[in-house]
Amino acid sequence: MTYNWCHGPNCHTNHTQSRVRGSGDNKVLRTIKIKETKWNNGNYWKYFCNQSCLMDFIRLHLTSIIAIAPRREALETPIKVEKEKYESHRYRYNDNGSYREPYMATRTTIKSVDNA
Ligand SMILES: [Zn+2]
Repeated sequence: MTYNWCHGPNCHTNHTQSRVRGSGDNKVLRTIKIKETKWNNGNYWKYFCNQSCLMDFIRLHLTSIIAIAPRREALETPIKVEKEKYESHRYRYNDNGSYREPYMATRTTIKSVDNA
C-alpha cells in the first residue's frame, strides 16, 4: 500500500479526533495519512485530506506554482460566432390581464472551429 502525508501546511493543527496520536501527556495532532486508492490515484486527493488543506498549500506556494508554468501572453481559441433569428414570445400586460406577444429574437452561439 502506498501512503502520502497530507501536504496541507496546517493539517497537523486541526483539532479533530482523527489526528490525535500518542498517549497520556504525550499526545499530538498529526498530519493525516492518505492511502492511495483507485479513487484518488492520479488526482490531488492523494496529496490532500480535504479542500482546506489543498487551498492552504496553494496559498502558501502560489508564487512557486506559478513559476512552473507562467502565462506571459494571452491564449486565443479560434471561434465562429453565429447569430440566428427565431420566433419567441413575451408576456404583455394590459387592463384585461396578460397576453403572449410573438417577436423575433436573436440567438448568439459560439462555435468551435476545426483548425486541423
Ligand atoms: Zn490535511
